Amino acid sequence: MVHFVGAGPGAPDLITLRGAELLRTADVIIYAGSLVNPALLGMAKAECRIYNSAEMTLEQVLAVMREAEAAHQTTVRLHTGDPCLYGAIREQMDALDAEGVAYDDTPGVSSFCGAAAAVNGEYTLPGVSQSVIITRLAGRTPVPERENLASMASHGATMVIFLSSGMLDRVQAELLKGAYTTETPAAIVYKATWPEEKVLHCTVGTIAQSAAEAGIRNTALVLVGDFLRPTYERSKLYDPAFTTGFRQGTV
Ligand code: SAH
Repeated sequence: MVHFVGAGPGAPDLITLRGAELLRTADVIIYAGSLVNPALLGMAKAECRIYNSAEMTLEQVLAVMREAEAAHQTTVRLHTGDPCLYGAIREQMDALDAEGVAYDDTPGVSSFCGAAAAVNGEYTLPGVSQSVIITRLAGRTPVPERENLASMASHGATMVIFLSSGMLDRVQAELLKGAYTTETPAAIVYKATWPEEKVLHCTVGTIAQSAAEAGIRNTALVLVGDFLRPTYERSKLYDPAFTTGFRQGTV
């Protein structure tokens, strides 16, 4: 059986209990070496065979899985953060379906949650934004035209931008074509939850400059929106006057 597992954003103790148990018992681990913290591999049993998928094609990954299946062994396919975001899991799952290989998926803490923790942020602040747009800039890998960054930015909602830290001049220019201004708060979070984590607070007008000054070119998320400002409304859920299914309000 193949277990897709979310490794979490970096800190090895942010993998789930289920994910850790699967790592401990795996016969084969194929990990996304560009981003998964290698410290997690320390959980593997001594005889486990470990492959770094950063150096492999889809065909090579599938060949390793197939070989393990033939030997009735268990494979963990370890993806960074949560596998459902930019994990390229669907093509692996479709290939396994076609070969009748059983698999399952264990979620992980995505880096967008790790980055929120790094800024002690709440993406969905009442009266500020109730939506989080997770997206990326088109680069060597395309993004459907209807999802271009400027149109995503037209909502002025909280935005988390993946896979774009090498193109921040363009990120900034596209954001400014939307609802944000040069003064809209932004943050660049480099290697959230890793020991070398860095948080740069800036504005949409200074994203590229801030990252350049700090030498950040990869493994970062750009957070954008007024959720980074100090002003918001109190939540209704915890307002004494508000009745919920669990509590009678005072008014
Ligand atoms: N599935 C992963 C995302 C993989 S795409 C997840 O759920 O987080 C790879 C991109 O994720 C990187 O280019 C970077 O933008 C972001 N990323 C991954 N780990 C990160 C971390 N610890 N800190 C900041 N950004 C991270």
